[in-house]
Amino acid sequence: MVLIVVTDPTRFRGRGEMGGTAHDFQISPSSWNRFEECPRKYWLSRQRLPRKASMAASMGTAIHNSVEDLCNLDFSGREDEEIGWLHSSCRETLQKRWEEERTLFSETPRHPRWKDESFSVALDGLIGAISILFDKAMLPLEELSSVTVKTWKQVQDIVVETEANLESKCGRLMGRLDLLIKDLEDEANGGLIVADLKTGKPPEDELSEKVSRQLLFYRDIMKENVTEDQDLRAEGWYSSNNTVYRAEGPPILEEAIGAWEMMKLTETPFQATPSEDACSFCEWKAWCPRWWEAKYEGELSQEGMFRDEVVRLVRLDQESGAALFERTTPVGGDGELRGSDHRFGALLKGKSLEKIRQMDQPELDGYLFLGSIMFGGKTARMGDWSEILPWSPLLRSVRN
Ligand code: SF4
Repeated sequence: MVLIVVTDPTRFRGRGEMGGTAHDFQISPSSWNRFEECPRKYWLSRQRLPRKASMAASMGTAIHNSVEDLCNLDFSGREDEEIGWLHSSCRETLQKRWEEERTLFSETPRHPRWKDESFSVALDGLIGAISILFDKAMLPLEELSSVTVKTWKQVQDIVVETEANLESKCGRLMGRLDLLIKDLEDEANGGLIVADLKTGKPPEDELSEKVSRQLLFYRDIMKENVTEDQDLRAEGWYSSNNTVYRAEGPPILEEAIGAWEMMKLTETPFQATPSEDACSFCEWKAWCPRWWEAKYEGELSQEGMFRDEVVRLVRLDQESGAALFERTTPVGGDGELRGSDHRFGALLKGKSLEKIRQMDQPELDGYLFLGSIMFGGKTARMGDWSEILPWSPLLRSVRN
């Protein structure tokens, strides 16, 4: 029997519960990580700008939710010896969650094409997560088709909580924990494992700083909610290679509260710290003038098959999607631009062509941010994977 002492019941909440807080804002591991990567990225993420959906994130959520559903499956009235149900349950559960994510994805203002062909990858990810659960329950996993109801109940028995909302004692830190499970290797001490399911690329060696920070954050908030002698471990479960990576390190909450102090939003933008890592997948480039200046000054690479540009549209054939763009030159760090001699042609298809056709004349006459242009052949290409947005550097907060 695992005992979780909840010092304040509002601080460890089951799924779907809500609670108020004495602070006007809270930080989560992902917002803290965003701030550490680039304070401007965090500041922009809080400006209620149109959000961007990503296939990888939606796929991850569908897998997470399916794991939760399977951990909470109700077997009343079913025979313990029943077999042949797990594989179909995985498929049906994932299908339901997949459809939910597809709807949310298409309702997100900025979204690429939904890839139905990725369903089988998601199913593999779900099966990968299940095999880690079997391992943690110290049960051998052979074929899904031969897993009995009784065996799955044994797996369910190690799961203490799924998708739990956590809040620190001080009320400034919050997070959503994927799984809290019994640590069978440390059963005598009532040991627990705080696990975060990762559906992305596993680390080559050890956990990245970001993932490690996130896991230690969960571990230390959970520590406030268990008895002093209960051991807690934090692990990242990578479903694509069925591998568990442990996060270890000193307590982190003090550092998190220090970050919270710095993350109070201001009227003017936080400092931008462009880097290849932070900027490559930053979804706020159309509102951030700094990366374009950094690229111009050679701080960021100008190479690569997929590139982002800030341009002026010179010509567009609405019918064929053939376009001619002029690359701009940044003037200072506030987003002011001037023209250049550098022109390039691009062939627009799919969502890119749809988007540019929908833009009105003043937008087309202004500067444009082009995301993920594929260079390589004679003509650059833009398709479902690319983005076209008006260039809109944000220099004052738009929050009330
Ligand atoms: S584009 Fe780069 S510099 Fe600008 S907010 Fe994003 S991460 Fe920061």
